[in-house]
This record gives sequence, C-alpha cells and structure tokens, in this order.
Amino acid sequence: MDDAPALLHLAVSDVRQHVYCPRIPYFRLGARVPFRFVTGAMQEGILEHQRTEALEQRRSLRAYGLTDGERLFEVRVRSERLALGGRVDMVICRAAEVIPVEFKNSRAGLGLHHKYQLTAYATLVEDHFGLPVRRAFVYFIPLKQAQEVAITPAMRAYTKRVLNEIRTGVARERMPAGTRVLGRCRVCEFLPYCNDRW
Ligand code: SF4
Repeated sequence: MDDAPALLHLAVSDVRQHVYCPRIPYFRLGARVPFRFVTGAMQEGILEHQRTEALEQRRSLRAYGLTDGERLFEVRVRSERLALGGRVDMVICRAAEVIPVEFKNSRAGLGLHHKYQLTAYATLVEDHFGLPVRRAFVYFIPLKQAQEVAITPAMRAYTKRVLNEIRTGVARERMPAGTRVLGRCRVCEFLPYCNDRW
C-alpha cells in the first residue's frame, strides 16, 4: 500500500503566478486570503477571448506558420500524476505533434511567467493527447500576431521545481519572499497583506 501523502492539486495559473510573485499562490492556497474579484477590465478580457475564439474558427493557421492541423478550443487538461490541471485556450493537433496556444489580450511582450505557464500546459497536453509538444504559441489579440515559444528540457525542469516550491511553501505555512520587481506591487490586490511593501 502506498502511504505517500497526496500531492496538493494545483492549477496551471498557480505556476504563472508563482513565477510572477511567489506570494500570490501562497496567499490563495496557504493563507487562504479571500479569492480575487472580477474587475471590469478582467470581464472585458474574458469577452475578448471569446470573440477571438469565434474568429479563430474561421481563420487559417497562417498566423502560426502552419498549413495543417485541427484546432480544439477551451481544452481542459488534467494530470493525476502531476496533480495539476488547467484549461488551454486552443490546441492545434497535427500528425506528429500537438501545440498549445494561449490568447493574450495585451501588446506587452511575453514575461517569464507566461513562458512557464505554457510549459506547464505543454506537459499536460502531451499527457492528454499522447503526442510530443515541442513548442507553444501565444496569440496577441490586439496585434493579431502569434509568437512561437520553444518548450525546452530546462523549462520543463524549472516548471517542476516551481510546482515543488509552491507545495513546500503551503505545507510549511511559510510566506515566501515577494517579487523583486517592485512595480508589480503597485497594482497588486494583495498589497494590503504585504507589510514589507508599503
Ligand atoms: S504586493 Fe508585491 S510582494 Fe505582495 S503579493 Fe503583490 S506582487 Fe507580491
């Protein structure tokens, strides 16, 4: 009989948030600070995602530099092995690969937190479809452009480390250090809980 404790189940968004600032998933999962509300801007972002999905269904795959592939939208993926789950905006299924795609309602370039979010999706999509993921795309909605991101072994290893760090922090009930990018704190809803930032 396996007596190993069950892994804390995490969402792919926890990976993105941890890379952005490790305190954010800790506040939600460890300190259980009340969950974030949906602002008008966030609601507009959700609607823009839906409009993009509707348009995507009529577009060719040219924005991704592809000539073939079947598109699936809002794909739920989950791995019991990794205790990780999420929902990918779009997956392109080809004969010898699958490609996760995230829609981003911004003109700003990709941050590391987005790249590791894509890597976590890549791992889940690979398990789900039983085909390799070598790359992912981010589709920038305002620019109508897609950017390819290679999914490397180093990125996969770091993503595993992130999952481990989140679970260890929650298990030890120890608030991690906050991001070094202080500009992020000015627009963070968790600022009232970070006494060392004001
Ligand atoms: S206020 Fe700054 S340190 Fe605190 S959770 Fe937000 S981003 Fe992280």
